[in-house]
Amino acid sequence: MSHASWNALARDLSGELSLDERDRNTHSEDASIFVVRPAAVAFPRGNDDIDRLLRFCREEGLSVTARGAGTSRGGQPLGQGLCLNFRRHWQSVLHWDDRSGELTVEPGVLYAEAQKFLARHGRAFPPDPSWHQCTVGGMVANNAAGIHSVKYGGTIEHFRGAEFFSGDGALHDTRVPDGLSRSLGELLQRNASLIEGDFPAVEKNSAGYSLAHALHAKNPLASVLCGSEGTLGLFTKIHLGTVRIPSHRALSIAYYPSLASALEAGLRMKEAGVAACELVDKVLLDLHAGHEESRHARRITGNRWLDEFYALSAEAVLIVECDGFSSEEVERCQRATEEASGTRAIYRVADGEAGAAWDLRRHTSPILNKVENGRVAIKPLWAVEDVCLPRHRLVEYVAEQDRIFRRHGLVCSFFGHVASANLHIDPLHLNLRGAGDGLFDRVTEESYRLVVRMGGSISGEHGDGLLRTRFLPLQYPRSFPLFAEVKKLFDPLGILNPGKIVL
Ligand SMILES: Cc1cc2nc3c(=O)[nH]c(=O)nc-3n(C[C@H](O)[C@H](O)[C@H](O)COP(=O)(O)OP(=O)(O)OC[C@H]3O[C@@H](n4cnc5c(N)ncnc54)[C@H](O)[C@@H]3O)c2cc1C
Repeated sequence: MSHASWNALARDLSGELSLDERDRNTHSEDASIFVVRPAAVAFPRGNDDIDRLLRFCREEGLSVTARGAGTSRGGQPLGQGLCLNFRRHWQSVLHWDDRSGELTVEPGVLYAEAQKFLARHGRAFPPDPSWHQCTVGGMVANNAAGIHSVKYGGTIEHFRGAEFFSGDGALHDTRVPDGLSRSLGELLQRNASLIEGDFPAVEKNSAGYSLAHALHAKNPLASVLCGSEGTLGLFTKIHLGTVRIPSHRALSIAYYPSLASALEAGLRMKEAGVAACELVDKVLLDLHAGHEESRHARRITGNRWLDEFYALSAEAVLIVECDGFSSEEVERCQRATEEASGTRAIYRVADGEAGAAWDLRRHTSPILNKVENGRVAIKPLWAVEDVCLPRHRLVEYVAEQDRIFRRHGLVCSFFGHVASANLHIDPLHLNLRGAGDGLFDRVTEESYRLVVRMGGSISGEHGDGLLRTRFLPLQYPRSFPLFAEVKKLFDPLGILNPGKIVL
């Protein structure tokens, strides 16, 4: 591309266009192991800029990859063409409707900022990923979820719609039926039985387009956009549903002598009505215990529950939260969870200690990632970091997965949203040997075959990106070709974030 055409483009924009090495480098990474340098980075300001940039890319045959905060774990916001940074100029809260509890924001608003705004109205947008410095646009595009999703659902359950540009440059509103929504509806209905039969029966699924969810959704267009990783449209305005923030909460820690017993108890917790139930195993707790930030936190708070873990020689814990609108409601939930826990080794965390206990769980990924000063410093070679299993297969799956890791000489940690059967499984980077000789690929493939054989999803909440797209034909042996048909409806020239979800 000649400098003259870039310069002409830059002159047409209200925002900025950068060919600068530094900008291109900072937009070449996310929290994954991939590095892909874009040809240029645009910081659009307003819909006219997006329209102009899309036209330019169509004319020049250049790909367009949207970017929020760049915290994806699979290379979703990385592309070789033009990177569209939505963080700089798309940070406004546009509308708050007190009656319906609906929030409308620009896509570059950070989750943390949206929560702060909503808290003033006693409300929350509940998906709660463990890293709050991500954008709402990135959350919708990845269908992110988190610690409280077991009770409140993930992004797809609260995404009410969006204004977006499709790849051909048309501006759509998911709330206004048009040719695109009709074509999508017809495609879904034509292929309903194929989709029903091919999608895993799991509680959370961010692998591929959300076709199974869309089949039964009030607004199939919004459903399919949620989790589409910037491959179908560019959001310019997002509507979110919210919930009332519960006035009461209580936290307890249950200790287990084995990983399997913790898993079994964790699976019973959803029925007991938990707001959150997180598994953390000994491998991770040992890492925390040795980590400087955690040691610092323990000096301040004491974190007695962690001392208790070592005193009991436990192998895993469940961090269990109950919430509600009265102390009686919370107490009822706590009693139900204690019954479901199957253990007497339970520590009821005092109010003053709860923050530190949650911090420990929330800092699990940052510690594994060695996040320092807000930047990911070391990226573990995640292989199967986000699987979701049918509940009745989870215990058997974990045992088999552990055997796979051990066979390859890897030490691995299990943690995450056990009550939804959605686990994060990280082989510790410190112990990963021989990554260069294809070990990573072999372990990943073997593990994903196991997940699919057991009826699970290879991604419960993190999405596909460059990491998992090539495994989608394995996940969806019959419906994978439909993804290309969907893509064609939205993006006939294939310029939107190529290489993600569709091969
Ligand atoms: C330490 C750590 C912990 C994490 N914990 C969780 C967790 O608990 N749960 C979870 O689900 N995820 C988690 N993640 C992953 C990540 O934070 C989420 O997926 C998040 O939603 C990504 O948002 P982002 O703003 O960083 O988006 P980016 O990574 O910048 O982009 C994500 C996708 O969104 C697309 N996109 C961005 N803006 C737009 C737009 N305007 N229009 C269309 N597409 C757009 C991009 O093209 C890309 O495909 C974690 C990551 C880290 C590093």
